[in-house]
Amino acid sequence: MLDNKAREVLALDAKAVQGVLQEAGVYKHGHFQFTSGLHSDIYLEKFQVMQYPKYTEILCAEMARRTQHLKPDVIIGPAVGGIILAYELGRQLGCRALFTERVEGTMQLRRGFSVAPGERVLLVEDIVTTGGSALEVVEAVKPLKAVVVGLTCLVDRSDGQVEFPIEFYPLLSLDIKSWDPKDCPLCERNIPLVIPGSRQLQYT
Ligand SMILES: [Zn+2]
Repeated sequence: MLDNKAREVLALDAKAVQGVLQEAGVYKHGHFQFTSGLHSDIYLEKFQVMQYPKYTEILCAEMARRTQHLKPDVIIGPAVGGIILAYELGRQLGCRALFTERVEGTMQLRRGFSVAPGERVLLVEDIVTTGGSALEVVEAVKPLKAVVVGLTCLVDRSDGQVEFPIEFYPLLSLDIKSWDPKDCPLCERNIPLVIPGSRQLQYT
């Protein structure tokens, strides 16, 4: 576990976080359709950064620096993106690291994972867009009477628009432009559309 002095040295501001994501190849440029149906010229391929343990370690060190005062006992991240981040953050904060999965649309702790009443839970996500997944994790642990103390993430794609009933510590807030297909300047220029998550994914 890093001591406080080491964390101070590691402090990363938004620009430094952006630099790490860029270096890892997270920012993809092209013509994309989000799951919302909106189009954009930028797509964040988050697993590009998580393929490098050295970058994941640096980013999670910053998450740890910002959230250690919450004194979590357990870190929970929603699968799939949250698994690696929860593990690394848990390793650095000396906590258990769990993940939730959706079963028939409902977020659940499975695989024998549980939290005890009163345990302090810190949530971690890769990219927060609407905050829906994090709130589903809050609902999943509520019956267990654990205390959700906060949420941290790599990128808040809502640029600070999303509001949570818990403390929120994004490493980076971004306002990524998106357009309704009928107003999309890239559609107008007939640039081939890519739907992330499909096999035809190609970047320019
Ligand atoms: Zn378009």
